[in-house]
Amino acid sequence: MTLHFAQDASSFAVAPSRLDAYVASRSFDQPTLVMDLDRVSAQYRALKAGLGRADIHYAVKANPARQIIARLVDLGSHFDAASKAEIAQCLAEGASPADVSFGNTIKRASDIAWAWDQGITLFAADAEEELEKIAANAPGASVYIRLIVEVSHADWPLTRKFGCDKDMALRLLDYAKALGLRPVGMSFHVGSQTRQAAMWAPTLDAMAHIWQAALDAGHMLDLLNIGGGFPAFYGEEIDAPTAYAAQVMQMVEARFPNVANIMAEPGRGMVAEAGVIVAEVMLTSRKSDRDMHRWVFLDIGRFSGLAETEGEAIRYQFETARDADPMGPCILAGPSCDSADVLYEKRPVSLPLSLKAGDRVLIRNTGAYTSTYSSVCFNGFPPLDVVVI
Ligand SMILES: *Cc1c(COP(=O)(O)O)cnc(C)c1O
Repeated sequence: MTLHFAQDASSFAVAPSRLDAYVASRSFDQPTLVMDLDRVSAQYRALKAGLGRADIHYAVKANPARQIIARLVDLGSHFDAASKAEIAQCLAEGASPADVSFGNTIKRASDIAWAWDQGITLFAADAEEELEKIAANAPGASVYIRLIVEVSHADWPLTRKFGCDKDMALRLLDYAKALGLRPVGMSFHVGSQTRQAAMWAPTLDAMAHIWQAALDAGHMLDLLNIGGGFPAFYGEEIDAPTAYAAQVMQMVEARFPNVANIMAEPGRGMVAEAGVIVAEVMLTSRKSDRDMHRWVFLDIGRFSGLAETEGEAIRYQFETARDADPMGPCILAGPSCDSADVLYEKRPVSLPLSLKAGDRVLIRNTGAYTSTYSSVCFNGFPPLDVVVI
């Protein structure tokens, strides 16, 4: 069966029919994320069509499934990896070391040495100590400096923890050179799930100002890394991928004339819409006869894959076989014995009033940041080891 996607049709809640056919024909005895590889390919092509000359470095943490990495290698994607395990995964699936960047600004020294040994030559940094680690363990490597993003219109901002300010960035470029590294450029991240391309403007304006200051200071920068932020459809309107990416690139080219190399790091925007989670209702209840609130408990929750419901920031789309029945609001919660395991309460979810235990619930567009958060190894960092003595 071949699926044909209109290049730019994914901003609507069109159910990818290959997924639906697969899901409908099977039963599942635990919450299961089903990914459609052809949908990933379609999304890669749609993003690439808009990004043009920019290289796509897929942000592996969004979904590191072996088959997804292998497919993206076939399509010519490059990769943004954050840890030794993520780099190893990319190389194992056939990625060339030249196409894998070590984009985490917080790296273990021994992992830098290991990566350098594997042939990885491009590293991110936002602090002096990080540059010192890179210089000591990957002497002569290329580095880009990550800038802090002050204003984010994203639904899942990545501000504060990552990046440095302009003055420090300029100092770090000098310092990198003094350490014998090759400071090649700068990076930023507008924040994940930035729904409209126009929302990039303030960040790009600020970055262009810093970029120019670096050029004025004599730095020969030839790499601009525009990070991720490309959105997925979660119910609120988003720009379609090709148009979105093209508009971002247009804004980039206008503000950064003649940059030799541009790279983009879509994660969510690449894989979210290619996945659906098959879940099940465990219980529906009210807390008293007078309780206005109906509770619906699923077999998946905040600690088993739906971590991005934190703060109700990402609002997933739910679908059941009873959606033609009368609908009503409910508080939606996960199954674990932790009272923080409530998915949506401030803004209740509308689900069929006839819903009952055992019913299947599809959670749409959940291909990004779900399996990794439920795994014991998010972002390739090993889980807490347990030793009993
Ligand atoms: C997580 C991450 C991305 C991917 O972000 P999305 O919003 O999912 O596209 C890209 N770059 C870096 C450095 C990241 O940490």
